[in-house]
Amino acid sequence: MRIVVSACLLGENCKYNGGNNYSEKVSRFIEGHEVVAVCPEVLGGLPIPREPSEIVNGKVCHKDGSSVDDEFRKGAQLAMKIVTDHRAELVILQSRSPSCGVNSIYDGSFSGKIIPGQGIFAELLKKAGIRFIDIEDL
Ligand code: SF4
Repeated sequence: MRIVVSACLLGENCKYNGGNNYSEKVSRFIEGHEVVAVCPEVLGGLPIPREPSEIVNGKVCHKDGSSVDDEFRKGAQLAMKIVTDHRAELVILQSRSPSCGVNSIYDGSFSGKIIPGQGIFAELLKKAGIRFIDIEDL
């Protein structure tokens, strides 16, 4: 199977804080499959490390209100292109990210509160009808 995975789940240090979300579960699952890693936020030109971002009234912002919406949307589009070029049959995504979150995201108050919702990349995957799954549901 051709699979695209949030790069941080494969151990790439592309998280906002310079770390990763390495998942043994993902590593076991993808064994023997064709795998491509993507980080929409890095593809969008955002640095590592970077300020945390949340979706506030439909736009992606930093805590100080500065917008990174363009970068997030550009990165999500570029990640989508990788998914379609790779003809991915499944995309495995990191939870709660404003790009990759599948079932829930932070509520935009930067207080750690979680609400139902999806990240910008996950939204595009849904619109395109591509199968995707949250790491927690794998
Ligand atoms: S944008 Fe996605 S792949 Fe990149 S660090 Fe955040 S959760 Fe991981």
